[in-house]
This record gives sequence, C-alpha cells and structure tokens, in this order.
Amino acid sequence: MTDGRRGRLRARWRRLAERTRPVHPETGRALAERWAALPEHVRTPAQSLGRHAVGCEGTHGVFPKCNLTCTPCYHSADANKVRVDGGHTVRQVDAQMAYLRERRGPYAHAQLIGGEVSLLAPDDHAEALLTMRRHGRSPMSMTHGDFDPGYLRALVTGDDGRLRLPRVSFAAHVDSLMRGRRGAVRPRTEAELHPFRERFVQMFRDLRAETGLRSYLAHNMTVTPANLGQVAEVVRAVVPMGYSMMSFQPAAHVGDDRRWKESYTAVDVDAVWAQLEEGLGRAVPHQAIEFGDPRCNRLGFGFLADGAWHPFVDPAHPAELRARDAFFAHFGGVAFSNTPPALLAVKVLRVLRAHPGDVAVAAGWARSLVRRAGGLRALAGAARRRRLGLMTFEVHSFMDAAHVGPAWDLMRRGVVAEDPQLRATQERLAACTYSMAHPETGELVPACAQHSVLDLAENAQLRTLLPLTVV
Ligand code: SF4
Repeated sequence: MTDGRRGRLRARWRRLAERTRPVHPETGRALAERWAALPEHVRTPAQSLGRHAVGCEGTHGVFPKCNLTCTPCYHSADANKVRVDGGHTVRQVDAQMAYLRERRGPYAHAQLIGGEVSLLAPDDHAEALLTMRRHGRSPMSMTHGDFDPGYLRALVTGDDGRLRLPRVSFAAHVDSLMRGRRGAVRPRTEAELHPFRERFVQMFRDLRAETGLRSYLAHNMTVTPANLGQVAEVVRAVVPMGYSMMSFQPAAHVGDDRRWKESYTAVDVDAVWAQLEEGLGRAVPHQAIEFGDPRCNRLGFGFLADGAWHPFVDPAHPAELRARDAFFAHFGGVAFSNTPPALLAVKVLRVLRAHPGDVAVAAGWARSLVRRAGGLRALAGAARRRRLGLMTFEVHSFMDAAHVGPAWDLMRRGVVAEDPQLRATQERLAACTYSMAHPETGELVPACAQHSVLDLAENAQLRTLLPLTVV
C-alpha cells in the first residue's frame, strides 16, 4: 500500500471514529460546566441536568405579539405593540441560536417562543425552524393552537408541495384562562375546550396521512385557583387524544400585571400533581429523575400502553435505579433524539464496549419494566394495535417577578442573598433548565429573569424598532 493511500485510509478512519464517538466533546464540556455550577442540593443521583441534559433553550424578543389574551400573561404590557416581522425573527433566531451552539454545544431542545408563533408568515416560521436546526437545535413551536390546517400545510410544505419540514414539534397552550379563541371566545370550563384540543391533534394526523409528516405534540396549560379543580378531568380527556406530553404551569405573578386576576400562591406543584394522579388513577413517580431544581420542575417520564401510563423508571424497583445510575454515568450526553438510528446504534455499542456490565443492568431494567407494564405479550399487543407511545408529564413552576428581580440583580453582582426567599430564588435560577441567549452581553438568562426583568426594556425598544403602524 502506498503512503498516500495509507494516509487517506487513516484520515477516513479518524473521521468515522469522530462521527461515532458517543458524546460530542463540546457537549461533554457544556455538561461538565453545568454540573460544576449547580448548587450542591440539586447534585443528587437523580439529577439529569449536567449529566445527560445541558438544559432547554428558548427564543426571546423575536415575535412578542399575540392575538389571544391570557389571564395571567407572562409578556410585558408592550409586547402587543410590536409588529410581527419575519426578517427580524429569523435574524434574531439565528444570532441567539448561534450563541447557544457556542455555549451549550451542538445538540439541545429549543423552543421557538414569543407571542404567538402562527402570526409569523408560514415561510418565515419555516425559515426560523430551519435556522434553529442549522445550529443543531431541536425546535418546538409554541402556539395557542388557534390556526387552520392550511397554515400547517403552508408551513411544512414548499412551493413544490413536498415536505420541507418532515418532522415538527408543537406545544399547544389551551386552557380556560385564555380569551379570544375562535369558537370559544370566553370559555367557562376546561371541558368546553376539549374539541379544540382534539382538533389540534387531528390537523397533524390528517397531514400525516397525506404527506407523511411526523410530529411531536405537547399540551400546555396554565393552572390557577380558577381551574385547578378541573385538571384531573383535563388529564382524563387529553391523555387518549394523541399528545406525547402534558405540561402544567402553576401561574406566577410575572408579566403584564393588568392581567393578574387573583392571588396565585394557592396553586403549587403538589396540588397540580395530586390532580394529575387523580386524573390518571395512579401514582406518578417523579423522584427517580430530576431536571434542575425540584421546586422549578417535576417530571414523570413514561409511556402509554393501551391507555395505561407507566413510568420508565420506578424508584420502588432497585434494578431500575441501577439502570438510571449506569445511564447517567456512561450514556449521559449521548444524543438519543435526532441521531440516525444506525449511527446511534454504533454510539451505543461503543459505550457498551467500554462498559460491558451495562448489558446485564439494562436487561434487569427491561425485565422489571415489562413486568410492571403487564408482560411482553401485553406490550406487543399494544404496539400491534398502535396504542404504544411516549407520554411525559411535567409541572414547571415559574417564579414571581417580585422575587426574581432582586435575586437576579444580586446574582449578577456576585452577591448571595441573605433573605431566605431571595436565596431560594437564586438557588433556583442557578439550576435553571430553561435559558435564553443574549449574545450582545454574553449571557445565558433564565426564562424567569427574562420575563421578570429583561422583557420590559426589550419590548419597549422593539416597540420603537418595529411599530405596529409603519410610518
Ligand atoms: S425558568 Fe424559572 S422556573 Fe423555570 S427552571 Fe428556570 S428558574 Fe426555574
């Protein structure tokens, strides 16, 4: 073999080794940084932040306007005075995602969020999503869901009618605290909105049948004392509809104070979780996997089989906890979503080559999970009937602006608050799982601080830059 040929083969082998390495070095670096910066109390064996996840991301100031009114609304009073402008959106998304790519590495989940995403022209919306993908982000569009099938079609297909976005993720925010939805302008109960929740899923099903479009759909709901008692009923109705996630946000006093209708302190994560469990008719264990500070996030990762929900890891089963520990220790940082299956298989094999004992640990977990879920035959039957699918439950509790403002201000000056409430707020901000990028200042900002502090000046500026009426 000539030297030239040997060199080319070596280079090809190096490229293959790089491509199949289980964790990208920049992801490894971002994970280590996150773990090192976490407050001690959240560095538990259950913690996924800094061990598997770098955290979620969201856009800000890219399209603040919305055409529904929510009570409460997290956006500042100026948000609806800013014109939706696709060019601005795409430029901002590009800059913010480039910065997140630099700080958080090549893969992360990111929300295309602002006011209402469907106010963007379909081409601009598509370009924003493609821009996010170019920066390695898995984008999710945040919407109130009140748009027509024609909009979805125009979003995902190009001029030639072929799919330009073969897979999309959407989170539909639907609850009775919202005003102005077509056909349910002023809903009195959550039940009135079930047909709208169903219609949203159906829109994606119809387009899938026609074009092959794949989708991941989440259902979001704000919870206040006014609708807390209806959460169980919403869970019962929504679980069979075809969403893959249900996320609940207990309301916080943040954003436009003209839209705060009552005190929201009565609704906490435990109250919402109790409703979730009542609706499902079973306990939803969340202790095995944490994401940031448990006062911010509580999650139940699992799946539905023939309508019954099962967690992926039940902390009551030691074999499953052993598998979780091995996963975080050896597979943390492997990009399981959006990696082509063959490439993912090679990455997994490379991990197993270094940790062959994990095969037995994984088999123990699978045995335990299959037993609790009714046996292999039951699961295979559910798969055959196409009644097997992911379902994650989440409660995300934003914080009140009155606490976030001073806590964030002290943090930026490197001061640890003495006041217990502000110190707790700082701890949560330090373990934040939902960041927004500010390339202009070199900061990654927790969404709580964005909405409580930075949105006000940002939207006031945007109001001048992008006035509703162009003169
Ligand atoms: S955005 Fe706020 S509530 Fe959410 S994880 Fe960050 S600090 Fe916690």
